[in-house]
Amino acid sequence: MNSAVQATPTTMTATTTKQSQAPEMGELSPYQTGPALTQATLVQTGVALEWQDGQQSTLPLLWLRDHCACQACRHPQTRERLYLPLEPITEPPSVALLDGHLHINWQDGHVSAFHSGWLYQRRPESKLVSSVPNAKPWKDNFTPECVRHDDFLKPQG
Ligand SMILES: [Zn+2]
Repeated sequence: MNSAVQATPTTMTATTTKQSQAPEMGELSPYQTGPALTQATLVQTGVALEWQDGQQSTLPLLWLRDHCACQACRHPQTRERLYLPLEPITEPPSVALLDGHLHINWQDGHVSAFHSGWLYQRRPESKLVSSVPNAKPWKDNFTPECVRHDDFLKPQG
C-alpha cells in the first residue's frame, strides 16, 4: 500500500504578511477610535509618542512592559496579569510603528503591541474616562425614608 503523504511544499518564502490587525487590548471600555500614532522614539525616560492630532506623551518602559496585553502576559478570559515585571529594564528595546500602532521588541525576545487609541487614553496628560457612572453623594440633609413593603406595593393616588 502506498501511503505516501503528499507533502505540501513548505518552502517558506519570506512573504511579507502585512499585519493590518489592530492590537487587541482586552479592555471593556472602547479605545478603538483614538488617533493613530505618527511617531515613537526611544528616549531616556521611556517611549516618546506623538499622535495624529499633535498630542505628545512619554510612557515609561516598565509601565509599557507591565501593560502588555498579549495572551502570555494577560489571561485571555480573566485579564489577570500573568507577567510580573520584577526586574528592571536594563537593555533598551526596539520600538516601531505598524499601521499607527506601537510595537515593542523587548531584549528577551518578547513582543508587545499597543493600540494607539488605548495609549492615547492613557497619556498622563489626559483624564481616563471611566466606564462607571459618576458617583453622586447624598445631600447633607438626606435621611432615608422608611416605607413598608405593603405600602410600597399599594397603588398611590
Ligand atoms: Zn506580552
